[in-house]
Amino acid sequence: MPMEWKVRYVDYPTQFRGLESEVLATIRSVLAGGDLMLRQQLRDFETHLAAFVGTQHAVGVSNCTDGLRLILQALGVGAGDEVITVSHTFVATAAAVHHCGAKVVLVDVGDDHLMDPDEAAQAVTPRTKAILTVHLNGRICDMRRIKLLAQRHDLLLIEDAAQALGARYAGVGAGAFGVAAAFSFYPAKLLGAYGDAGAVVTSNADLALRIARLRDHGRMPGGEIAEWGFNCRLDNLQAALLDLKLARLQRALTRRRELAAQYHELLVDVTSLKLPPPPAEGRHFDVYQNYEIEADERDQLVAHLQAQGIEIMKPWGGKGIHQFAALGLGHFSLPRTEAMFRRALMLPMHPELSNEQIEYVAREIKAFYSGRMVRNRAA
Ligand SMILES: *Cc1c(COP(=O)(O)O)cnc(C)c1O
Repeated sequence: MPMEWKVRYVDYPTQFRGLESEVLATIRSVLAGGDLMLRQQLRDFETHLAAFVGTQHAVGVSNCTDGLRLILQALGVGAGDEVITVSHTFVATAAAVHHCGAKVVLVDVGDDHLMDPDEAAQAVTPRTKAILTVHLNGRICDMRRIKLLAQRHDLLLIEDAAQALGARYAGVGAGAFGVAAAFSFYPAKLLGAYGDAGAVVTSNADLALRIARLRDHGRMPGGEIAEWGFNCRLDNLQAALLDLKLARLQRALTRRRELAAQYHELLVDVTSLKLPPPPAEGRHFDVYQNYEIEADERDQLVAHLQAQGIEIMKPWGGKGIHQFAALGLGHFSLPRTEAMFRRALMLPMHPELSNEQIEYVAREIKAFYSGRMVRNRAA
């Protein structure tokens, strides 16, 4: 559908214009130096990323999906093991578990749209090896209780932090809770590359070395092949560009929080909506990868907003991963996840949005619901 959006969901051209000279200078310098694979720019980015997250190590990889799979494989998770995760996530989370041979166990979400620790506790069996928790939409799960659960049953705690770089919970950064975590630098993510990219973070030196080896054909620094590996490297050029953007990330996250506060202020009185919590400085420090809301008459609202030139997304097309028949996970019954997917939509959210654009979106949402009231009364 060719359409001139007035408010884009993500706005790559505007983002590029804001950083154009720095991006081009970085590309020129990397290419002129011939620094294409596993060079200093990658090591610099890994150092800066680990410091930003609060872990000892970061290992750049091809994407978050590969990062999660490498973590699971390096930790020996495989056939006969069960891994607990959620259905309100991108299919990649479960694919990583599936491809290392373990069984995907899905549990329901709580009111916050994130893993419900009680449901996770119920799902533990003698075969459970790991909890793969997902910090969705820039908000960290209830890690106090999920960490206790992992400790009580001696389970590996792994974070899918694809959507949470810079989010904090009780002062701890996303990615610094478990044995290891993976981040995505897909272009639309909080820190976006110009293509696919990802990283694994951990404070376990042996695990970091193992993952660095697995991402590069099992090779050791001297060229010795230590084991069967993969090609899951992060390109040096992308690493250099990510390093440039990482230095500006805090400012972008602050802007996302301002926009979320503005959405909240403008929409909090619309009783047909359920909003995420507004930005706070308490236990949760949220960074709003997405602004996911629930809405009455969701599909009609989406159609109205799209018609007004506002680009809206339904999370993953409006289905949890157990609702995609081809994946063979249809035996899970997750009523709260299913109810949420019937009502969820995501409003435009990226640091380049103007306050006027947020006002326009809010105005159109209110116009939709007041129009419905008038029509309902007339009927
Ligand atoms: C984007 C995303 C992934 C996958 O990241 P890639 O870098 O595209 O592999 C995994 N999990 C979640 C929650 C995501 O949002």
